[in-house]
Amino acid sequence: MQSKIEQITANIKAGKTTAHEQVEQALKIAKEKESLHALLETFEDYALKRADEIDAKVKNGEKLGRLVGVPYVAKDNFLTSVGHTTAAAKILDNFESPIDATAIQKLNAEDAILIGKANLDAFAHGGSTENSAYGPTHNAVDNTRVAGGSSGGSAVAVASGIVPFALGSDTGGSIRQPGSFNGVVGYKPTYGMISRYGVVAMASSTDVVGPLTTTAQDAVIVSDILAGQDGHDGTVHPDYFKPQTTTVKKKSVIGIIDDFVSDGVDEDVKKNTLELADKLGQAGCEIKHVSLPMAKYALAIYYIVVPAELSSNLARFDGIRYGVRNKEAGNIDDVYGMSRNDGFMPENKRRIMIGSYVLSSGFYDAYYLKAQKARTLLINEFNKLFEDCDYLLCPTAPTPAFKLGENTDDPLKMYLADAMTVPPSLAGLPAISVPNGTDENGLPIGAQLIGQMKDDAGLLNFAESVEDIVNA
Ligand code: GLN
Repeated sequence: MQSKIEQITANIKAGKTTAHEQVEQALKIAKEKESLHALLETFEDYALKRADEIDAKVKNGEKLGRLVGVPYVAKDNFLTSVGHTTAAAKILDNFESPIDATAIQKLNAEDAILIGKANLDAFAHGGSTENSAYGPTHNAVDNTRVAGGSSGGSAVAVASGIVPFALGSDTGGSIRQPGSFNGVVGYKPTYGMISRYGVVAMASSTDVVGPLTTTAQDAVIVSDILAGQDGHDGTVHPDYFKPQTTTVKKKSVIGIIDDFVSDGVDEDVKKNTLELADKLGQAGCEIKHVSLPMAKYALAIYYIVVPAELSSNLARFDGIRYGVRNKEAGNIDDVYGMSRNDGFMPENKRRIMIGSYVLSSGFYDAYYLKAQKARTLLINEFNKLFEDCDYLLCPTAPTPAFKLGENTDDPLKMYLADAMTVPPSLAGLPAISVPNGTDENGLPIGAQLIGQMKDDAGLLNFAESVEDIVNA
């Protein structure tokens, strides 16, 4: 599929359009699509000024960045020195960051233009963007439905044509699932491929940064810029991301994870996934049916490990160092307690309580330690599958986008939407959601492709072939 990013940069370099026009157009569409509530803030003055600076560089024949004049938005858990960074939580309502996250710095250095910040579930806790303190984002295809989450604003900003790409973060599915719900590409790299410096931490052992785009090729272009070591994030591997330009070189062996095309999965989701497997078979891939028995424990593991980590990470929001402080609080305990009570959403509080519980001395062994052991068994199962398979295939989510409000009273139902995205997150594996048709109501369905650790370039290459097959 044709890269939107390349189209824009080529036209700017050829003088057929300007960065100024691109930014104006993005801001105009953002205004037209305001009711979807994809964005929490837009930066008209800043973005147009940047565009004019870039247009001057084009005119003067100066060296241009790889994303010259391309407008983008970032999920509002990326620190940006322009505007606010709220993580969609009241406790950071007025927070202005003194720095840009490394990902933002790298994109800006390539002459991309940040035009706004995208909505999310507060602190990225959620799968529908309904946990935002500023109200939900609506699905780009059916506005009575959820955007998915937690990078719902980023997905809708791309799907509704505001920007060609957006930054998201993914801890258990937050890029892939909203990508799938809105019919765009959502790519979660191998853990440690892209610096997380300047991204509000959720669960440090699974958090990753990645792009939402309209094509896999655009995910390659953006990831090539974002990948690489950063002195501020010691978990980033030395550079290994080398985009491949060839189409699938050898006959790939694709494992369909049978556990995820079984009972409880929407019929159309199952049908589209199995049809894709057939088409891949016809295209010369070897298709194997495989099983991941530990997958049935993945949500239980995730909802112990992740709350444990996030309860520690959120301890820093104490009403003193960042953001909002309760004005009535008369002593230090009240400053902490009342500010945190005002500033966190119910879902944040639920997770902080679970996390504190599973880490407490009497329960650590029974919950946290056991969950980590089970996580290792899941990782071993993935490793075993990759002895025979190059890539794994399954749906991205068990259903297409659900109705706004449908799951808000039932956290467990909401968590089930993560059943397929959580396992690769726990294992640190790269995974990408590519659009794979629609259901009978026209709602987008995503196919999740999972690769081996550090085979991001191969996975994205495979994703491009899958796109071609789906669109043939
Ligand atoms: N929906 C998942 C959760 O609520 C994933 C969130 C994420 O990846 N940030 O934890």
